[in-house]
Amino acid sequence: MQHLYLHIPFCHRRCSYCDFNTYANMEHRIEAYVEALCAELRMRAAQEHVPVPRSTEAAALPPTIFFGGGTPTMLSLGQFERILEAASALVPLEGAEITSEANPGTVLGRDYLRGLRSLGVNRLSMGVQSLHDPTLRVLGRIHTAAEARQSFEEAREAGFTNLNLDFIFGLPGQDLAQWEATLAAITTWGAEHFSLYSLILEEQTPLFAQVTAGNVVVPDDDAAAAMYEAAMMQFAAAGYQQYEISNWARSTPEDGRLPRYACNHNLAYWLNSDYLAVGAGAHGHLYPRRYANILGIDAYIKAVAQGTLPVATVTALTPEDLRAETMMMGLRLNQGVSQAHFMARCGLGLDEAYGPTIAHLIDLGVLESDAERIRLTARGRMVGNQVFAKFV
Ligand code: SF4
Repeated sequence: MQHLYLHIPFCHRRCSYCDFNTYANMEHRIEAYVEALCAELRMRAAQEHVPVPRSTEAAALPPTIFFGGGTPTMLSLGQFERILEAASALVPLEGAEITSEANPGTVLGRDYLRGLRSLGVNRLSMGVQSLHDPTLRVLGRIHTAAEARQSFEEAREAGFTNLNLDFIFGLPGQDLAQWEATLAAITTWGAEHFSLYSLILEEQTPLFAQVTAGNVVVPDDDAAAAMYEAAMMQFAAAGYQQYEISNWARSTPEDGRLPRYACNHNLAYWLNSDYLAVGAGAHGHLYPRRYANILGIDAYIKAVAQGTLPVATVTALTPEDLRAETMMMGLRLNQGVSQAHFMARCGLGLDEAYGPTIAHLIDLGVLESDAERIRLTARGRMVGNQVFAKFV
C-alpha cells in the first residue's frame, strides 16, 4: 500500500465551526486509542492488498502517511513512534512524505518539534485559519495569531522544510480589505504551501446557530468569491502556483504542471488512487470498495479489542463510480485529467466515457482541452461543483 491516512480524533476544545469526527475532554483515552490504532494497523497489514491499475502520474507519487484529525499533535512523541512503527508494515517509510496536522496551540516547543522531525515526520500542516485574534476567538481556536507565527518559526528551527498553512476566508466580520491584508502578511512568512478554504457553515455547529440567530454575520457568496479571486492574484504575485482549487505551493522556474511542494498525499486522492485509512471514523478507498470506520472513540477501541476490523460501512463501487470519481477529483487539479491517466485508471478513453458531456462543458466555457488533457477554465474553477456534478 502506498498511501495511508491515520485519524487522531482528539482536540483540546471543539472549534465553533467544526463538524469533523473529533472529541474534546477525552485525553484520558488517548493511550488506549493509540493501542487500538496500532492493532488496526497490524490487522490491515495481515490482509492481502491487490494492486490496482495506476497511471504513470499516480505511480510517480512517493509513499505517503498523513496524520489528520482532530489534533495529532496531542500525541506524545512515544505514541507517534509506536504508530509509525506499526504503519511501517504497510507503507515503506523510506522516501515517504509523512505529514502531521498541527494545531499551533499545541505544538509550541522546539523539543517536541525536533522530536517529530527526528521520527521521520517531514511535513507539517498548521491550522492557522486567521491572523485576526477576535475572529480566532469567535472560531473557538486555542491560539492567537502571534502564537501561530511562533509555532511556524519553531517548526523551521526544528528542521521542517516543508510547511503548509491552512487559512479560512469568508469568516465572521471579515471584509475584503482585512483578507487582503492577511494575504499580504502570510505570503511573507515563506511557507512552502497554503490551503485556503471558504467557511462552510455546517448545521449542528455552534457557529451555524449563532449565524442563524443573527448574532454573527458572515460575508455573502459574492464577497467570498471576491476573496478567493484576491487570493489567486496575491499568491501568483508572491510566487506561489495554484495547482488545485484550494491549494497553492511555492513555485520555481523548474516546476512543471505540479510544483515541487505539492502535497503528495492529497495528490493521491485527486488522482483517485487507492488508500488505506485507519482510526475512528476514517474513510478508506480500496477499489472496488470504499469503507468508513466506526465513529466513536470507545466503540472503535472496543471493536479492535474484540479482534475485528472496526468498519462501520462498506460501499461497493461500480466502474461508473470509478469514472465519475476520477473526473470529479482530477478536475480539481489545475493540470486537469489526462487521457493517459483516465485510461490507466478506468480502462477506457475520456471521449468514450464522456464525449458529449465534455463537448457541452467546453461550449459553456467551463472546460478546456488539448490533445492530452481536459481541465477547468478560470471560470470553471469558480463553479467547480456544478461542473463536477455533470460527471455523476
Ligand atoms: S482543531 Fe481542527 S479538528 Fe479540532 S475542533 Fe478545531 S477545527 Fe475541529
